[in-house]
Amino acid sequence: MNTPASIPPPFKNGGTCRDTPVLKERGQREVFCGLTGIIWLHRKMQDAFFLVIGSRTCAHLLQSAAGVMIFAEPRFGTAILEETDLAGMADAHEELDREVARLLSRRPDIKQLFLVGSCPSEVIKLDLTRAAERLTVEHAPHVRVLNYSGSGIETTFTQGEDACLASMVPVLPSTDQRELMLVGALPDVVEDQAVSLLTQMGIGPIRVLPAPRASDTPGVGPNTVFACLQPFLGDTAAALTRRGATMISAPFPFGEEGTTLWLRAIADEFGVDDETFDRVTAAPRARARKAIANASAALQGKTIFFMPDSQLEIPLARFLTRECGMEAIEIGQPFIHKGLVGPDLDLMPAGPTISEGQDVDKQLDRVRAARPDLTVCGLGLANPLEAEGLTTKWAIELVFTPVHFYEQAGDLAGLFSRPIRRRALLKLEAAE
Ligand code: SF4
Repeated sequence: MNTPASIPPPFKNGGTCRDTPVLKERGQREVFCGLTGIIWLHRKMQDAFFLVIGSRTCAHLLQSAAGVMIFAEPRFGTAILEETDLAGMADAHEELDREVARLLSRRPDIKQLFLVGSCPSEVIKLDLTRAAERLTVEHAPHVRVLNYSGSGIETTFTQGEDACLASMVPVLPSTDQRELMLVGALPDVVEDQAVSLLTQMGIGPIRVLPAPRASDTPGVGPNTVFACLQPFLGDTAAALTRRGATMISAPFPFGEEGTTLWLRAIADEFGVDDETFDRVTAAPRARARKAIANASAALQGKTIFFMPDSQLEIPLARFLTRECGMEAIEIGQPFIHKGLVGPDLDLMPAGPTISEGQDVDKQLDRVRAARPDLTVCGLGLANPLEAEGLTTKWAIELVFTPVHFYEQAGDLAGLFSRPIRRRALLKLEAAE
């Protein structure tokens, strides 16, 4: 028998993490810029091309982040600014037009072209918005040209996806239809699971942003309701709201509880009765609970410290503390958008430090003082912390691995328990 899917009442003693004053820090940061979002966005949007207007540094970043993908003729590239471009900006626009024309004549499969701003293009104030408008006119109706910034000055890691999706919202067609829009680029297999569960409850039509192809682009209007699949989509949510759409607010679909509450919020909006909801979710909920129990044995009673990376930290801490028995010491996010992660904060009793932004040396001092059982951090900090005897989880995997919804709940717990189990095994071997 399922327990009813509803948000638990407020905690008796003290408040929730929503009431916790946020520790805001600025200083040296160890994070990716938003260009990295291109790596998963270009796979999701099958007729889009991402042209970064940047320097060799930007090209190198994409090459190292994409790994072997760069050998598979990916749909992204960098137009590298040369010294001549830096000297006079009128030339840079002409060169950009020439590069785009050459690219589009070689790749007739491209229907959407994103001009992606970088630190260098922003510092020299290259007006990519104007360039996108000019190029849209030039290449209409075959290709639509948009632009957004993925620069390190403007964006951190997953914010690149937010900036990209937000740039699409003003040009989405208008509609008066009552439709559900799922917002966020998830692996197809995970997105299919979500659509299938909602469809089985009789909810529809369901549209997704970003759509796999330009021709499937969803419409938006006053009867559109949307639910975010990712907690880092603040600008996109605001842009959709400006177009008249209404957001369904819910905890994010991580783990059995998170997924159930997320689905329940949408089901409530569409008037799905309890019996239908339970019929559709009972079996996958039971599977998820079992998988989490198996994968989380090593996590029970362990402490965890999140350094800021992707804005997934708060919903993941909620999953780990409530479903895997962990205790959070600090939950750091690059930005905290309470309009999106508020329902997750409501589910955690006050206790952990909630921090926004980073002054990395100060934060490392706090990690060393707390000596958590597990520290979630970027690749640049993981090995140095391991060398100090701390166990780490590379945050990047949480973005590249399918982790949402019921069927992935066990894998998600496994991502955190694996480093703890590995350290215990290595210790055992060393002792033998
Ligand atoms: S956009 Fe900025 S932070 Fe990102 S790779 Fe280019 S120069 Fe570096």
